[in-house]
Amino acid sequence: MTPDEFKKLGYQLVDWVSEYLTKVGDYPVCSSLQPGEIKEKLPAQPPIKAESMADIFQDFEKVIFPGMTHWQHPGWFAYFPANNSPPSILAELLTAGLGAQCMIWKTSPAAAELEEVVCDWLRQMLALPKGFVGVIQDTASTSTLVALLTAREKATAFQSNIRGMKEPLCVYASQEAHSSVEKDVKIAGYGKESLRYIPTDENYALIPELLEQAIEQDKKQGLTPACVVATLGTTSSGAVDPLEPIGKICQRHKIWLHVDAAYAGTAALLPEKRWILEGVEKVDSFVFNPHKWMLTNFDCSAYFVKDKEALIKTFEIHPEYLKTGVDAVVNNYRDWGIQLGRRFRALKLWFVIRTYGVEGIQALIRKHIALAQKFREWLEADSRFEILAPTHFSLVCFRLNDGRNEAALNELNRIFHDRINQSGQIFLTHTSLKGKYTLRLVVGSRTTEEKHVQQAWEIIRQAADALLGGGKS
Ligand SMILES: *Cc1c(COP(=O)(O)O)cnc(C)c1O
Repeated sequence: MTPDEFKKLGYQLVDWVSEYLTKVGDYPVCSSLQPGEIKEKLPAQPPIKAESMADIFQDFEKVIFPGMTHWQHPGWFAYFPANNSPPSILAELLTAGLGAQCMIWKTSPAAAELEEVVCDWLRQMLALPKGFVGVIQDTASTSTLVALLTAREKATAFQSNIRGMKEPLCVYASQEAHSSVEKDVKIAGYGKESLRYIPTDENYALIPELLEQAIEQDKKQGLTPACVVATLGTTSSGAVDPLEPIGKICQRHKIWLHVDAAYAGTAALLPEKRWILEGVEKVDSFVFNPHKWMLTNFDCSAYFVKDKEALIKTFEIHPEYLKTGVDAVVNNYRDWGIQLGRRFRALKLWFVIRTYGVEGIQALIRKHIALAQKFREWLEADSRFEILAPTHFSLVCFRLNDGRNEAALNELNRIFHDRINQSGQIFLTHTSLKGKYTLRLVVGSRTTEEKHVQQAWEIIRQAADALLGGGKS
């Protein structure tokens, strides 16, 4: 591709992306293709001869695009959001253009220093304690793995020798913790049987007394409690584990306390939501994902630690070929996580935070929370619906309940859920709360306005009408 062709096509693609973002709400949220349909349209062998960009782009529109799920759709109420934004997209373009590999300071000083600065901006934006230092990881799964590895090293006095240990290490998390905790416990070598799931209360938050009982029982058995993972904003229901009492227990027993706030951490930008952080000074590490609810393109996970030395001691390496004269005075982020090679992710955060300002991001988060609250009030006013969990953030958990037995209710709500998604205009996912089939509606798309939540409510009400008859308030 010549520079002139690149320029011409580049402008065309920016036009395409711009138009896509404006029109994304016109597409069905989810693709209706069946498994295998896309593969069938793709040649099994790589092209031997060069192909033109015109052909490639035509296939992108014809073959690939219909198979996309539109995460930026204003009717996206599923999972958690992964919202992007124009400034973040432009920064990704620059990152791709620079093509830098930012493993150490020397391999791009600006990437290292910008990362240090924007991580501290994020720390201030969330009102995390002074002294916490941040690093950008790819995902919360990786951040939690980094925390578990650091906790493991600390518990074994940095001997990296869990095999030789007579006292196996234990990890604790609530029954509502994200599946990445179990995955990371397996990867970090603790073994799945070392993970203790602590029961939760009626609001799905970890019960601190039961955590301490489990810790004491393990100690009596000669085991070593190494790490507790608390969650702010669980995936199923948005529950908030109480950091203050959990932190006290961890301090008493000298256990690493990691906080998974992947989705809800962004809410701590709002002073009125900072109660979720009460006790955070007792925390050892904390992760939240700007790539979820903070307008930053996937991937971008912000990981903070109190004891930077423990983190670095866990991951540092000193091969001759990576030594530089400035290693003592700069951050070499290869030693702050698993990867050696690193993308320049700080640039998109810098673009986003500067373009919106802290106030602009706060306004968006506040709007999403208010819209979720409104939706919850509509449900509350219609006796056919039952709300199944508190709404601390922008996630509402609900189901139809006409008094039939639990098994029949689960079946009813499964059908109800299918009907809602069949509209193609909105997309909701589900979970199970205490055995109950639960629909989840999360407001978090950058483009979701009140009219979209109203439209969702219309679709949901009509599905309820079809199954149960008209609403009684
Ligand atoms: C989304 C989520 C995760 C996983 O995040 P990734 O960045 O995709 O690894 C983990 N924990 C919680 C609470 C989440 O909401």
